[in-house]
Amino acid sequence: MYANQQKTQTTPDVCRSVNGHHSGVGGVPLGIFTKSHVTVTNKGVQRVHEFLLQDQSARLLPKERVCNCLKKRIDKTKLRDIKYNEERKKAHYSNVQRCGSVWTCPVCAKQITEKRREELKTAIETWKNVHFGGVLMLTLTFSHSATESLRSLLERQKKALKIFNETTKVQALLKKIGVQHKIKSLEMTYGQNGWHPHNHILLLTKNQVEDYQSYISDLAVLWIKACTKAGLNAPSMTHGLDIRDGNYASQYVAKWGLDFELAKGHVKKGRNGGYTPFDLLQFSMLDGTMNNRTAASLWQEFGIATKGARQLVWSRGLKKLLNIEEKTDEEQAEETEHNAITLRTIDDYLFSLLCHYQQRHQFLRCLERDYENGCFGSGEAERLLISLCELELKRTDFEE
Ligand SMILES: [Zn+2]
Repeated sequence: MYANQQKTQTTPDVCRSVNGHHSGVGGVPLGIFTKSHVTVTNKGVQRVHEFLLQDQSARLLPKERVCNCLKKRIDKTKLRDIKYNEERKKAHYSNVQRCGSVWTCPVCAKQITEKRREELKTAIETWKNVHFGGVLMLTLTFSHSATESLRSLLERQKKALKIFNETTKVQALLKKIGVQHKIKSLEMTYGQNGWHPHNHILLLTKNQVEDYQSYISDLAVLWIKACTKAGLNAPSMTHGLDIRDGNYASQYVAKWGLDFELAKGHVKKGRNGGYTPFDLLQFSMLDGTMNNRTAASLWQEFGIATKGARQLVWSRGLKKLLNIEEKTDEEQAEETEHNAITLRTIDDYLFSLLCHYQQRHQFLRCLERDYENGCFGSGEAERLLISLCELELKRTDFEE
């Protein structure tokens, strides 16, 4: 298992090897994506730019919407623009589709989870300070093995949760605790015992609850029963169900979804020693294997099995109660263009070169630097485009 992690590869941020030649014009490193974009250490797989990960996900899931994300145009009669947000000092592409796939698109996942984390934080604060309620965190897990498919586990997990929620005794116990609303998060990791889907559920209680621990064992028995009824392997009494206090819930909310934020540092190992799905995606760039399966096939399985699965589910009416606007994933992903100015347009041919040579992110970085250095229109971005054209000429000459 994790055989490839023994070796350590370190490379510059942008790979310089193109068809075996090192190239670079005006100090701009050039290249196509290679395995050396990924750094593997004993701690795990380290950061890869989310655009490169998005390319990798698209390569492995060629029928999914992630393939068009930030590539295909929205309005076919117009060119793609590059806009710049002066507040965030970040450039981005405009008039391009966004897939809004929270599970399979690293770019959209990052944007969506950042916004959802803020919503969660606001919700918890409002619940505590305006409604004077308490918050607990319920965690539900079950046993699984490496031979079980993710799709089947997810189906049975959903069934078990439904049985649990509809059990009269469960409802009575939650009522005693004072639970009025719930926010359910679905998370997945992968480890030695295969896929590990689990739920963390924020319980919003009427008052602060001190004696919640006395309910754990009764609820755990009911959860085990629900798992067995749904065809899952029963969890143990000590591991299947857990409830933590408000401090823990707040810490959880503060870090919620951070596994998706790949650009902010290396990806930590998932909880319970497992790997996060985006770890698997990064690992697939190195042809990694786990449990005698390739990371690439695990990612493909993950991409198909999570289609339509909801990452975060709020009790009906809760968002309205806490003044949080209802937005779809797609709407969340599209909200990047506020306060942005247009830097330039880019034609189809040049954009196709940026995609082909996997330089979409590099082009944005060059434009950001050019804009800040006041050499817009004659700086790094132009040199990058020129060198990509030269490379392409060489490549087509070679093919002829
Ligand atoms: Zn996307």
